[in-house]
Formats: sequence, structure tokens, C-alpha cells
Amino acid sequence: MKEYVLSLDQGTTSSRAIVFNKAGEIVSVGQYPYDQIYPQSGWVEHDPEVIWETERMAAEEAVKKAGVPISAIGITNQRETTIIWDKKTGKPIYNAIVWQCRRTAAICDMLSAKGFGEIITEKTGLMIDAYFSGTKIKWILDHVPGSYERAKNGELLFGTVETWLIWKLTGGKAHVTDYSNASRTMLFNIHTLDWDEELCEMLDIPMCMLPKPVGNSELYGVVAEGIPGLESLAGVPVCGSAGDQQAALFGQGCFEIGSAKNTYGTGCFTLMNVGEKPVRSHSGLVTTVAWSIGGKTTYALEGSVFNGGSTIQWLRDGLGIINSAPEVNPLAESVPDSGGVILVPAFTGLGAPHWDMYARGALLGITRGTTKAHIARAALEGIAYQVTDMINAMRSDADCDIAVLHVDGGASVSNLMMQIQSDLLRIPVERPKVVETTAFGAAALAGLYAGVWESLDEIAAAHESERTFYPERPAADAEKDYNQWKRAVGRACGWIEK
Ligand code: ADP
Repeated sequence: MKEYVLSLDQGTTSSRAIVFNKAGEIVSVGQYPYDQIYPQSGWVEHDPEVIWETERMAAEEAVKKAGVPISAIGITNQRETTIIWDKKTGKPIYNAIVWQCRRTAAICDMLSAKGFGEIITEKTGLMIDAYFSGTKIKWILDHVPGSYERAKNGELLFGTVETWLIWKLTGGKAHVTDYSNASRTMLFNIHTLDWDEELCEMLDIPMCMLPKPVGNSELYGVVAEGIPGLESLAGVPVCGSAGDQQAALFGQGCFEIGSAKNTYGTGCFTLMNVGEKPVRSHSGLVTTVAWSIGGKTTYALEGSVFNGGSTIQWLRDGLGIINSAPEVNPLAESVPDSGGVILVPAFTGLGAPHWDMYARGALLGITRGTTKAHIARAALEGIAYQVTDMINAMRSDADCDIAVLHVDGGASVSNLMMQIQSDLLRIPVERPKVVETTAFGAAALAGLYAGVWESLDEIAAAHESERTFYPERPAADAEKDYNQWKRAVGRACGWIEK
């Protein structure tokens, strides 16, 4: 019987591997952190060989600890991070340029100035930004001598991190990218599910270096013989892959139109399943492929809040009113409300749906009665208000409601914040038992192909709820506070002078 799946979760700061059983439980974990490379201000790189080596070691550790037969391997990864390597030698020609890296901002300005914004959004669902892989590929080809010619001659291969890992695992046999990762390159047409010639020309990218776009739950290849430490995995199918956010949406069981998840990490990442047709956002959200299984493609709207858990870090490190993040909860719970205080955590501007880079944080409504407990409570509320703004934008863009918000991430352990979130959104907020939703999503995609799970229903059954929060406050009270929040956002917007 097929029962165990290995999930490789290649993140920005560490490479992890988790073995899941059919019940969706964690059997074992391997994890190796690795170094960030900062060549200059605003630039971020990783060593692709280190990405592979740490992921290989994590897999070895997880498989050894589990001591069970692995039926399938799934991959999830930091998205947009760009690697180019030599097809023959397998050696990268430059470090991986990481999603956070801003070095290609000038290329983006050039694309905007040439008026490419509309065509890029229409075809890719994205807006022009240095996050996405396209301009990073161009930068490497522009800066590594001779690489443009070599790419044109078919000597070089491009890949995002899942492409690189699949290529390494299959001993160079499979050069593929899954649709969810391809959606983040700014070169991929999300309507036709293929690379776009016009966009590649726009950035001078030879199409022969691009991987083959593939579905999220299908056979990419099998693990090659003789990979040190992974000998026991030789022949195991590599058959599931999705970028981290899409994998979390899948792992949270958001299979229906209008189902959504929010990850409360340093920032917050929200994705909402919008069904089989891409929805164009009018609020500055991104449209992306969530997954494609058996030829059926599901799309999502995606948005992020810049400052989520980082607001709690600021209470700790900036204000010094708590010693550790978990202390925010008892402090905030020690008062029945924020006493009229509103904290707008626009420390680095505001993202969707406000999009104001000139906004800055604001603390409003302070009186002589204000205490640190009120500020702690206002911080939790400020995070929940921002998520509410974004989800309301999604509700309106997709013209459909959300039945339940599924949550994960380090700050989702705050019961008070989850209750506030449910009161604001007027829907249940569900926190799962296994919080490793990203890794589980990749395992589920692979296990679905390999027959560990027979259907989406079976996967949903493996997803157990730990606690669900239901709206408790009267709707009118919550709405009154939300209107107050909107007024506060108005004060924070445009704060620094252009
Ligand atoms: P990331 O993946 O972005 O590093 P995590 O998902 O690990 O983030 O979440 C870390 C965030 O969770 C931190 O910003 C921290 O402030 C917050 N956090 C951690 N523990 C708690 C807690 N008990 N209550 C509220 N927030 C918490």
C-alpha cells in the first residue's frame, strides 16, 4: 500500500524536507538553514549549489529518520528566485538572484516607460516588478560575458528553484517548471499556459533556455541512481510541485471557488481560489495559476500585507513593551478593547488595495488613559484590519464571497487576533492541526498523482482543524471600528513628502 510522501520545502532561509503519512501527519523532518548573500544594498543572492546540497541533506535526514518506503516526492519552493546553469556541466553561471532582490528596478522602469504595463498584466496577471524572474534572467545574461550567445546556442538552462531541484533529482533528465511557478516569471501567459514570445523578445530572452511548463500533479521524472545519501530514493517518482503560496492554498484544502487562506508570517500572504477562469483585479492584486491537475486549471487572486508579524516584532524590539512575541497575547487580552487607539502598521508603506509607498505608520486616538496593553491590542487589530482590507478587495474583484478563511503562519497562533479577524470578516476562521500547510500541499499534489490519495476529498479529509473562530461581536460594533480604521488609513497615506 502506498502510504508515505516526501515533501521538499525549499524556503528563503532554509531547506526542509518532511515525510507525511496518508493521514496527513508529519512522520519526520530534516532541516538545514543556509546563508544569504548580500553583495550590495538591496541585492540578495543564494548559492544554487548550496540550495541543492542543503535540500539533499534535508531529504536524506527526513528519509533516514522516517525509515519507511517513500511512494512519491513533491516540491514546493521560494518563488521567482532565478538560476541559470550550463546544460552540459550542470554548473550555475551565476548565483541565484533571490525574489527579494531589487537590482533589476531600472529594467522595470524601462519596461514601464515603454508602455508594457498593460500587456504584461493582460498576459501574465502580474504587474511590472523586480520580484518576478524575467528581469532577473535578463540581468544575468547582460552581466555574465558570453552568456547571451551561449543561451541562444542552447548551452544554458534557466529555472526557478523547483526546476533546479527537479533537474538535479532526475540527474538532468527533466527540465520543467510547474504552472504555478511559471506564473511568477512575467514571461508566462496564464491564459494559454505557455511561454509568451512577445514578452521573451521584450527582455531578449532566448526561448530555448526556458523549461517545459507542466501541470502540478504529474510525472516529471524519477530520482536518478547514485545521488549521495539518496540512494534509497532511486526510481521514486517526482510528481508534484507548486510555489510556496499556491502549495499552502492546496495544503489548506481550498479547492472550491471562494475558498481562501492567509499566512500570518512576517508579512501576510492571502490567496483566494477564483475557479477555472482568471479574474482580473481592479485593486492591484495579482492573478496567478493556483494549480493545474489532469488538464483542469484553477486560478487564484493573490495579495500581501507588508507588515504582519513584524508589527509584533516592533512592539518587542522598537517599543520594548514585550520581551517575546507570544507575550503580546496576554498583554492585549488584559484590556477589553484598544480604548480607541488605532495602529496603522504602514512602516514601509501600504500594499494592496491601498498601494501607497508614501504611507507611514500611525498611532491614533491616544489619550492620557492609553496604556501599553491598548497599544498591544491595537497592533493585533492593525494586522487583522489590513488582512480585512485585502480580503474585501478580493471579494469585490471576484464577485463572490468567502465561506471560511483558512489560516497558518507563526502569528496565527494568536487566538485573540484570529477572533478579531473573524469578527471583522464575519466568517469563520479555521486553523489547522498540522500547520505545515505549504509542505503538505506539495506532498498532496505528488501523492494525488502517485495514488496515495485518490481524490481531493481524501486530501481534504487529511486536513484536520485545530480550532475554528466564529464571529462573536455584534456586526454593527465591528463595522463601526472598521470605519474608524479606514479613517486612520487616510491619515497614514501620503505621509512622507515625495
Ligand atoms: P516567516 O515565515 O515570515 O519568518 P513565521 O510564520 O515564522 O514567519 O511567523 C513569525 C511571526 O510570528 C513573527 O513576526 C512573530 O512576531 C509572530 N509570532 C510568533 N509567535 C507568536 C505568538 N505567540 N503570537 C503572535 N505572534 C507570534
